[in-house]
Amino acid sequence: SSGSAGTSGTRFDLEKETELRFEVEAGERVQLELLSGLAEVFGSELNRNKKYTFGPGSKIAVFTWQGCSVSLSGKTEVAYVSKDTPMLLYLNTHAALEQMRRQAEKDNERGPRVMVVGPTDVGKTTVCRVLLNYAVRLGRRPTLVELDVGQSSVSVPGTMSALCIERPADVEEGFSVQAPLVFHFGSTTPGTNIKLYNKLTSSLAEVFSQRCEVNRKASVGGCIINSCGWVKGSGYQALVHCASAFQVDVVLVLDQERLYNELKRDLPHFVRVVLLPKSGGVVERSKDCRRESRDEKIREYFYGFRGTSFYPHAFDVRFSDVRIYKIGAPSIPDSCLPLGMSQDDTQLKLVPVSPGRDLTHHVLSVSSVDDDAEVGAGQSRGILESPVCGFIVVTAVDTQAQVMTVLSPAPRPLPRHTLLIMDIHNTAAPGRD
Ligand code: ADP
Ligand code: MG
Repeated sequence: SSGSAGTSGTRFDLEKETELRFEVEAGERVQLELLSGLAEVFGSELNRNKKYTFGPGSKIAVFTWQGCSVSLSGKTEVAYVSKDTPMLLYLNTHAALEQMRRQAEKDNERGPRVMVVGPTDVGKTTVCRVLLNYAVRLGRRPTLVELDVGQSSVSVPGTMSALCIERPADVEEGFSVQAPLVFHFGSTTPGTNIKLYNKLTSSLAEVFSQRCEVNRKASVGGCIINSCGWVKGSGYQALVHCASAFQVDVVLVLDQERLYNELKRDLPHFVRVVLLPKSGGVVERSKDCRRESRDEKIREYFYGFRGTSFYPHAFDVRFSDVRIYKIGAPSIPDSCLPLGMSQDDTQLKLVPVSPGRDLTHHVLSVSSVDDDAEVGAGQSRGILESPVCGFIVVTAVDTQAQVMTVLSPAPRPLPRHTLLIMDIHNTAAPGRD
């Protein structure tokens, strides 16, 4: 009863508690099929005899608790089976969190709030996905809080968001992102404006807590917070801030003993700080690789993910019909600050931007703030706290005619008229053939 691996497929027989790791070559696609047994990809179960396709650069692990046979076809950069994985430790972590949820249910308390931290490329995003999948597979409704402004798994780069998880992640596409709560940060590193970063972390925590008050399932489900790989200086302080804003109960530190010790020292004693090993399968990604995946994320926003194509709309927007802001004035020396103003104020200040050619290729967030909200004297009241309702890319600017051409997922007119400028350029979106 051995399955056939198809014409060009390579068959792998996996023993229990082992995983097949593979990377897809640039410009190639690889198909995966489960022939027999049971297997999962980052906590999402595979269906038998279904072909899963992974695009260029994908780095995947097919793990099996019971043993299985799979076939791979297409060009892989590497493909090997490893017996050495931390999945059992991750499963135990999940079991401990599930125990906390059961207890919360009994005592009418809230479920675990978990923060996953560590340097870049240690598998933070993957661990979040595994834990969320295991929870939702048991019928829980955990919330994913995405604080990685460089590599967001929920929305475009430069945003911070929260997403209620209602079903396991799609093996190929990840979590379905219906109705996420998204805030505009505006850049791909928290260091660009750490005040804003911390403020938005607090806003997300507040919204999540409010939701927990009215939604018992969300409260019991708790949250899994994914963080940035910046764990020193202000980056570290941002983690401490996040732990307190969300009142986290558990911190999972991946792969860095030093960070583990610092957090144990600095967080209140009732926070459980746990050190977990990273998987040997986690692949380091180059700067280029990161940039590509950011571009891809923006492209997906406008054009959809492979199978499901969207057709974005291009139209003109008159300068006079919108107001464009950048958040954060350039910092000025303390000695030059006007009386009574602090550096914090400049970081959270709204600076009006008059559209020029240099706006071309910029991603802009469309704020959900009321169109007639007062924006007096550089005050950002309302705008910083308002989630984003969508994104557009500026494809051309005509300063003479005072119009810009934008690419938008929805037809004209824009749903709102307050636009926030991102530090992020995108040439990928408009240029697709
Ligand atoms: P981080 O969030 O810490 O930067 P990720 O979770 O994004 O790290 O992992 C980095 C890359 O490694 C991702 O492309 C992910 O798909 C891949 N990866 C994670 N775990 C494994 C594994 N066990 N085998 C193969 N690839 C993996
Ligand atoms: Mg990540």
